[in-house]
Amino acid sequence: MVKSTMMDFPLTLTHIFERTPKLFGKTEIVSRMPDKSLHRYTYRDFYERTRRLAHALLEAGVKKGDPVATLMWNHYAHLEAYFAIPIIGAVLHTLNLRLSPDDIAYIVNHAEDRILIVDDVLLPLYDRFKDKVSFEKVIVVPLTGKPVPEGYVDYEEFIQAVSGDFDYPQIDERDACGMCYTSGTTGRPKGVVYSHRSTVIHAFGEVMADTMCLSMRDVLLPVVPMFHANSWGLPYSGTLVGAKQVFPGPHLDAESLLDLMEAEKVTITAGVPTIWLAILNAIESNPGRWKLTPGMRMIVGGSAAPEPMIRAFDKHNLRVIHAWGMTETSPLGTFCTLKPSLDSLSEDEKYSYRAKQGLPVPFVEVRVVSDRGEEPWDGKSMGELQVRGPWITGSYHKLPPEEAEDKFTEDGWLRTGDVVVIDEEGYVKITDRTKDLIKSGGEWISSLELENAILAHPKVKGAAVIAVPHPKWMERPLAVVVPAEGEKPTAEELREFLLAKYPKWMVPDAFVFVDELPLTSVGKIHKSV
Ligand code: AMP
Repeated sequence: MVKSTMMDFPLTLTHIFERTPKLFGKTEIVSRMPDKSLHRYTYRDFYERTRRLAHALLEAGVKKGDPVATLMWNHYAHLEAYFAIPIIGAVLHTLNLRLSPDDIAYIVNHAEDRILIVDDVLLPLYDRFKDKVSFEKVIVVPLTGKPVPEGYVDYEEFIQAVSGDFDYPQIDERDACGMCYTSGTTGRPKGVVYSHRSTVIHAFGEVMADTMCLSMRDVLLPVVPMFHANSWGLPYSGTLVGAKQVFPGPHLDAESLLDLMEAEKVTITAGVPTIWLAILNAIESNPGRWKLTPGMRMIVGGSAAPEPMIRAFDKHNLRVIHAWGMTETSPLGTFCTLKPSLDSLSEDEKYSYRAKQGLPVPFVEVRVVSDRGEEPWDGKSMGELQVRGPWITGSYHKLPPEEAEDKFTEDGWLRTGDVVVIDEEGYVKITDRTKDLIKSGGEWISSLELENAILAHPKVKGAAVIAVPHPKWMERPLAVVVPAEGEKPTAEELREFLLAKYPKWMVPDAFVFVDELPLTSVGKIHKSV
């Protein structure tokens, strides 16, 4: 019996971090500030400041396994938190600033976050939920340069008060390094906890030549928020290979992004279809205004990328590449690169391939399961996509197994809730979603939650909220309402009623009044009808 002689070397983010000053010290990291000015520094500066932040957190009593929350846009200080928190064994918990203040408070309390790092420009949002949470320390990043208000810790003072000279705590590759909450179909968000190992291997999967082909020659601009599925893992992948990184800060409108892409010579970027549709619109309404890097890769995911959009960008020599994933899958699951065997296809056939979600990335195993059992990969047989792999979650944070039952199969696969076909070549195509969620501009809206909120109105007897296709946001909620006996509620009053509790983007665009709702055989609302 021969035993391996290889070293037992842990796969941790500390290794990725420690490479940066030695190998990529002079490479730049550029961030757009709230006033639109550009903050620039190098990986060496990033390294030095991140060491200080890590040291300061240790001094503040942060221990292994402690969750540290961030409420931040995409910029250098968030990248510092992305590494400083995991390298001391703590857990980076990114809060989604687009959620309702109630949901954010629920998530903070459920995760038991002790410390918050927040952008000064997001303090008004923090004010809306601070009474419902109790952080030991709230550290404010003064992005605007204005003095940090009384009662808060100034991020710059916090990190400058220490030397950055500390010993790394012992970290096992299976230790937690980050957590993200995902919207549940029923009720509350659920926490997915990533490990150093899962995050590192995910980064390797992401940078591979047939995946993003990310390298130190790239200039990477992640538009996808660092508070949504870790910006698809890009800050870790970009740092692994030493790419120049460009962060848009709070400016996500098409013109600001295009200006930044042009000025910093971006070669690869990533975001949801809504963002790319806005960019396409801006490019087509201002011909010749922006000189972008020819062939710039634009990774798209979060919702299906419409084929016409992929075609339209090709005309501008910008290459849209489709990917699929979920918070539970770190998130990259499939990636759409065309095999050489498809070279002989017609243009139209190639486009229809490029609109598919793609091939499973190495180490992500996929299968299609219907009521009949596992389906063949024949491009026709539909079923739920089930996945497993080293960066796929196997449970949810603090969720009792009986409540997570329907998310996993007995033989240990994650049930994605996405209905797919897989063709003979192995390309996955999503055809439907089993979840009753609406995805508007990359963010989820729970139809169930809205239905319950509408039902709370005294003039309402029944309510169903459904997704309708939308040219900009991909999907928007539409409410179908049954008035209570003798009542005549108006769309205006229902909208006002919901606005008291939800942000504007979550409130249905339209209300339709009907006498009754169609029901399925088991008495559920028949939403497709
Ligand atoms: P989230 O956990 O918020 O990232 O959402 C994951 C879900 O987004 C998946 O289960 C899909 O329903 C949807 N999704 C992600 N990427 C795609 C895509 N490329 N095409 C269609 N739906 C997608």
